[in-house]
Amino acid sequence: MPPSPLEILRTVFGYRQFRGPQAAIVERVAQGGDALVLMPTGGGKSLCYQIPALIRPGVGVVVSPLIALMQDQVDALRQLGVRAAFLNSTLAPDQQRKVERQFLDGDLDLLYVAPERLTTERFLDTLARATVGLFAIDEAHCVSQWGHDFRADYWQLSLLHQRFPQIPRIALTATADERTRQEIIARLGLERAEVFCSGFDRPNIRYTIADKRNPKAQLLHFLRAEHPEDAGIVYCLSRKKVEDTAAFLQSEGFTALPYHAGLSSEERQRHQRRFLMEEGVVVVATIAFGMGIDKPNVRFVAHLDLPKSVEAYYQETGRAGRDGLAAEAWMVYGLQDVITLRKLVEDSEADEIHKRVERHKLEAMLGLCEATACRRQALLRYFGEELAEPCGNCDNCLSPPATWDATEAARKALSCVYRTQQRFGTRHVIDVLLGRAGERLLRLGHDRLSTYGIGKDLDEKQWLSLFRQLITLGYLMVDHEAHGVVKLTDACRPVLRGEAQLRLRRDPDPSASSRERRGA
Ligand code: ADP
Ligand code: ZN
Repeated sequence: MPPSPLEILRTVFGYRQFRGPQAAIVERVAQGGDALVLMPTGGGKSLCYQIPALIRPGVGVVVSPLIALMQDQVDALRQLGVRAAFLNSTLAPDQQRKVERQFLDGDLDLLYVAPERLTTERFLDTLARATVGLFAIDEAHCVSQWGHDFRADYWQLSLLHQRFPQIPRIALTATADERTRQEIIARLGLERAEVFCSGFDRPNIRYTIADKRNPKAQLLHFLRAEHPEDAGIVYCLSRKKVEDTAAFLQSEGFTALPYHAGLSSEERQRHQRRFLMEEGVVVVATIAFGMGIDKPNVRFVAHLDLPKSVEAYYQETGRAGRDGLAAEAWMVYGLQDVITLRKLVEDSEADEIHKRVERHKLEAMLGLCEATACRRQALLRYFGEELAEPCGNCDNCLSPPATWDATEAARKALSCVYRTQQRFGTRHVIDVLLGRAGERLLRLGHDRLSTYGIGKDLDEKQWLSLFRQLITLGYLMVDHEAHGVVKLTDACRPVLRGEAQLRLRRDPDPSASSRERRGA
């Protein structure tokens, strides 16, 4: 009788307990069933196929795109006494032949293969002659054209279920949105796979997303009030802003170190080392910082610029609170972020399909920012996980945002954009709504428009907030070619026709601090 999964976990890997859904996944695959595993990075995906491979007769074949990591994985397994090997382009021909021989002789427990090798006729033929216990497809989102990491070689992996329908397959990824999941299932023939999606929640992280007004002052206030002595990461989009922000925090007495690709590698290493070794160091970084850094007591992650996607936001905020103690993910965002990121997408070299993907991802991120209900529920829903109750540990739960019926105001704003012939920026349209009498406005004759002065019931801040939300939610678009002119989109028709209601977030009073807003 083969040893039980738990015995293997303990004797081979030296862990006491399975984590989360690992036990159920191992059980499923060990018994010959298919599985799709959606688990965040660091969740423990590897054991989900390694243990079944040790239990099942034959060799477990692992498809992995990360050639650089194969060697490490195989070395680590060998240290544990597992018979593991890899096949990729870094091996000399005689080494390759040796590994293939071991594979055919069944002298391996696990064989890691690069996808481009696996799908060659020659290797498929070898597979047919070997005894394969299971196929594990790591980084399975690479089959998805919806994702960033699409790889043509992964596309070919449909061969596996066509040629070897009787061999169980387990696909694993940390990218779990619904579209990607559907593509993985369709491409890899996983219709009968049990889907294990879990472990995305980080209950000890408190999420806060606030309106950006004076980001440096807001950051300073946040740090002074909540994290005066703590280690944390502040993310900015540009190198210049990283430098500025680090200098600013230093001048305010924080140990703040910049980190971006423009620094020399010694400098980056020095800053990274200090962050790891010293207490209370704040690293101000572009997104380049954090990969592979495992510091358990990062107490906060602050974003001064909006990440490009929910995945990116999740990954970056996920660097906080790895020790399980209370930590904060804090972000300010404003209209300029939305405009900058949308422009980045439009100006990128990517083809139209990828641009569409990026646009959708950004929209999802904006949806999270504008959410008026529990952020954690919204975040987890994006990853396909349902949280039954609001979390009680995000800004929206702790102090539910005031909303207001903005239907009428939105209609005024949209009409005013229309009346000014969609040829002006937000500021000008607001001047018209407020009935201001600037020289340019009068010269244009906009004081004679029917929408002139119809918005005096709101002040300028309220109009700016409304326009930001109308743009963020896609009712208006900003034309970058034409210096920020705002234009109507198709989405605004129902609002203009009076067929749709619009409830918007009432932006908090900027003079109130986040602590006061939470009622502390
Ligand atoms: P992923 O592939 O999901 O990013 P890994 O498989 O590399 O994650 O696992 C992340 C870390 O967690 C590794 O150091 C691994 O050894 C550890 N780990 C996984 N499962 C367990 C467990 N049941 N008990 C303790 N540590 C675990
Ligand atoms: Zn919540």
